[in-house]
Amino acid sequence: MPVIIHTYPCLSDNYGYLLHDQATGATAAIDAPDKNAMLEALELRGWNLTDIFVTHHHFDHTDAIVPLKKQFDIKVSGPAAEADKIAGLDVKLSDNDTVELGQTQLKVIATPGHTLGHICFFDSDNKNLFSGDALFSLGCGRMFEGTPGPMWDGLKRLRELPDETLVHCGHEYSAANAAFALSIDPRNNALTTRAQNITLLRRNHQATVPFVLGEDKRANPFLRADKPDIAQAMHLMGAAPQTIFAAVRKAKDDF
Ligand code: ZN
Ligand code: FE
Repeated sequence: MPVIIHTYPCLSDNYGYLLHDQATGATAAIDAPDKNAMLEALELRGWNLTDIFVTHHHFDHTDAIVPLKKQFDIKVSGPAAEADKIAGLDVKLSDNDTVELGQTQLKVIATPGHTLGHICFFDSDNKNLFSGDALFSLGCGRMFEGTPGPMWDGLKRLRELPDETLVHCGHEYSAANAAFALSIDPRNNALTTRAQNITLLRRNHQATVPFVLGEDKRANPFLRADKPDIAQAMHLMGAAPQTIFAAVRKAKDDF
């Protein structure tokens, strides 16, 4: 049975997500950025929070966990590798584990780099990816803790997911990401089309999430680090994809 996803903007540019299993009524929050914003969303929908699935330890994804646990009887599941940094964690998750929300199952995919233990959640039945700060529309997370090789490998695994997958990411960064992407890959038609759509949406103060993974595969320079166009733009023809990925990441940091 399908799940219903409720998206709520919060903090300065975060997105929080509620995932509602229609068969059982079980409701998970993907990350817990902002307690009041989440409570409003729950009340609007009339849902009862049962779970929190955590992508990584940063405060803008975990701050509300402990306050919410005082108020609800909830189970908090998140990355085993960051267990010491996430207060209130009940279930430690590793790569390829499965979390259950009623009758809905989500697969855990390790995507280290933004943080060392970062994980994403993929619902293969409904083709929804919750990518936290690993993958953004036309971008990826800043490499705060990891190294380029494993980060590139994690993004490649996301790239292997079906084209029709809808990606629900942790921040509204699309406009800035589009500006950078166009600066290095200006002749990519898939990218210019995406960038135009983003401009229109943002002009109307609309969210650019979720986005379609298949479109991002053709337009996001971080998912195209092994393509000749990106190598050429980085003046790294013939270099290993992870080296090119690292150069793109550095160029974005300096953009
Ligand atoms: Zn983060
Ligand atoms: Fe974040």
